Amino acid sequence: MPVLFVGHGSPMNAIEHNAFTEVLSGLSARLPRPKAVCVVSAHWVTSGAQVMASAHPRTIHDFYGFPQPLYEVQYPAPGSPSEAEKLASNPAILPDETWGLDHGSWSVLRHLYPKADIPAFQLSLDERRSFKEHLELGREIEALRERGVLILGSGNIVHNLQRIDWNNPSGAYDWAVEFDSKVKNAVESRNAEALAEPQKWGDALLATAHPSVEHYLPLLYCMGSTGKGDAVSYPYEGFDFGSISMRMILFGNTDSVHLQT
Ligand code: ZN
Repeated sequence: MPVLFVGHGSPMNAIEHNAFTEVLSGLSARLPRPKAVCVVSAHWVTSGAQVMASAHPRTIHDFYGFPQPLYEVQYPAPGSPSEAEKLASNPAILPDETWGLDHGSWSVLRHLYPKADIPAFQLSLDERRSFKEHLELGREIEALRERGVLILGSGNIVHNLQRIDWNNPSGAYDWAVEFDSKVKNAVESRNAEALAEPQKWGDALLATAHPSVEHYLPLLYCMGSTGKGDAVSYPYEGFDFGSISMRMILFGNTDSVHLQT
C-alpha cells in the first residue's frame, strides 16, 4: 500500500473546491482501495503516543472563527478498532476511546473518500518525542502497509500562520520556498536522517517555517514507513498565502498510478 502525505492548509479546504481539492478527489481512484486509513494528523498532540480505537469516531471541529457550514460537516466513517488494537500491541502506543477524527483527517478524507466508507483511525503525535523518535515510530508502523492500511500524514511542510499574507494567495516567501525545497531534496534522496534534523538547516529557518512543529511531524511517519524502493511523486505542489506549503507527497510504486505533477 502506498503512503500519502497531504499538506492540508486551511480548514476551509474541507468545503471548498479548488485545484488542491480536485487533486485529492481524483487521487483515490488511482490508489489501491485500502482496508482502512491510519491518519497521523498535526491536530492530535498528546503526552505519549495514542491510537484512536473508537468504533464510531466523532467528527471533531477543532478550529475557531470559521463560517458555520464548516461546523456542520460530519464525516461518519467507521473506526478500525482491530487495526488500532494491533498498533497498541506496541508498548509505546496506548489505545484511546475519547478522540475522534479531527479536521486534519476529515478535511482531507472527505475529498479522498467522500462516501466515508473506508474505516479511519488516528495515531497521535507524542509531544515528548524528538524528531528522530517520531521517525523511529514511523518505522515501527510500517506493517500497516502490508495489511492494506493507507498511512496518511496530514500536516504542512511549511506552516507559519503568523506570517500569512492575505495579499499573496498563491505566492511564497523566500524562506518558505527554501525550507520546502530542502524537504523535497531530502525526501527524494531518501535522506530520512536529514528530515529528522531540520534544525541543521538553520535554527532560524526552522523556527520561521514552523513556529511550532506539529505540522512538520506527520511527514516523519510517512518517511519512516517507506524506503528506497518506494517511488516519490508530488500529486500537488504550491503555496497558500506565502507561508503555507501545500505540497502533497505520494510514496510507493503504484504502477497504475499516473500522476500529474
Ligand atoms: Zn492544520
